[in-house]
Amino acid sequence: MSQSRPNILFIMSDDHAAHAIGAYGSRINQTPHIDRIASEGMRFDNCFCTNSICTPSRAAILTGTYNHVNGVTTLSTHLDGRLLNYPKVLQEHGYQTAVIGKWHLGHGGIHDPTGFDFWDVLPGQGLYHDPEMIRMGERTTRNGYVTDLITDYSLDWLRGRDRNRPFCLMVHHKAPHRSWEPDDKHADMYEDEDIPEPETFNDDYSNRAQAAAAARMRVERDLNAEDLKVTVPEGLTPAEEKSWKYQRYIKDYLRCIASIDDNVGRLLDYIEEDGIAEDTIVIYTSDQGFFLGDHGWYDKRFMYEESLRMPFLIRYPREVAPGTVNGDMILNVDFPATFLDCASVDIPSSFQGRSFRPLLGGETPADWQTSMYYRYWMHGAHHNVCAHYGVRTLRYKLIYYYGDPLGQEGAIGPKTQPEWELFDLEKDPCELNSVYADPEYADVVEELKAELKRLQEEVGDEAYCGEPG
Ligand code: CA
Repeated sequence: MSQSRPNILFIMSDDHAAHAIGAYGSRINQTPHIDRIASEGMRFDNCFCTNSICTPSRAAILTGTYNHVNGVTTLSTHLDGRLLNYPKVLQEHGYQTAVIGKWHLGHGGIHDPTGFDFWDVLPGQGLYHDPEMIRMGERTTRNGYVTDLITDYSLDWLRGRDRNRPFCLMVHHKAPHRSWEPDDKHADMYEDEDIPEPETFNDDYSNRAQAAAAARMRVERDLNAEDLKVTVPEGLTPAEEKSWKYQRYIKDYLRCIASIDDNVGRLLDYIEEDGIAEDTIVIYTSDQGFFLGDHGWYDKRFMYEESLRMPFLIRYPREVAPGTVNGDMILNVDFPATFLDCASVDIPSSFQGRSFRPLLGGETPADWQTSMYYRYWMHGAHHNVCAHYGVRTLRYKLIYYYGDPLGQEGAIGPKTQPEWELFDLEKDPCELNSVYADPEYADVVEELKAELKRLQEEVGDEAYCGEPG
């Protein structure tokens, strides 16, 4: 019998870029199980994160608020569990809720997961092999590969659930996060082939802000021994060495994804066999995108396309036609409002995102968003990416590198000289040529600055007004 309120099975990996998913036209790998969600449901082509880094994106997905509101601006600012989040609302309305896998929002006291009947999470980043996990406050070591274990525990929880009530299960994979450690089953995958290099692999960072050249996430220079795992062969030219390092990096990254894909298949098989496929919303997404050698980089953080874009696939037979594609703009901050809407629960006023449930049925509201606001706060930290904010519309992207740590925990000095970039994504989809100073785009710059100001006011953030470095 069909139940009135849907189950929600939310599968999220860590750093899985859309361009490493078959359904998004990947040139470098295949993901047959993840692709099942797309072929039986909808693929969103313009899903964006509001801050391309793990902890802040997770906070936005739970609370429905931007990071200047929920306080999780960086990796060092942990989530206050007393804040309202969507699982708490579902719990109040009779849902059973669980989160299993990567949490990365802090631990102990107010930072433990709240809103969940059951939680079993990795401390911090967690390990790929034989990880420690914290189950309802108790920390123990588990034997096995992290992606398999997270799926095993998810299936255990599903089998033991109360069948008279709907559920919301968040399955959060650690993979394919750095340092990209595959399991034995996939360790030799791609052994005898070369993965194609991306179009912008040999980017020289000219014609843009200095911020691009300053970043320390270059394949040829910044991958370390732990990333590469084997010694670089001697006698290679610099170009050969760069290509060799890319192959080392990307193959391990894709091997980790192959394990995720297998495990997504296990969950999809379970809901079919259990007879709940019609009543269950299945989502596959990742907390942000990733550079897969694009611009010569690994990592994320920038507002550039590969990092900004999140994969978002959703299957929900009751409302989503199979094999559909949507090009409307949706954001991570919109997820929780959408889930509550699908559960026929009122959306709390504190949620800043908007439900995209109408889009699932093929109807785009006339006033649907056509621009989005982005902000990265971790100035100078880790890969030396300048703090920036910006606006993306369906055609253009304006970025302001204000370059100031602003006293944020997890951001470090020194300040850098503020810079702007403008990209015409129609003419320059790879973002290789900023047209900010081009007189032909003067009107566009003016319009986008006004739109940026409007969005900042709408979400309650403030424009940078400090002294330039
Ligand atoms: Ca991440």
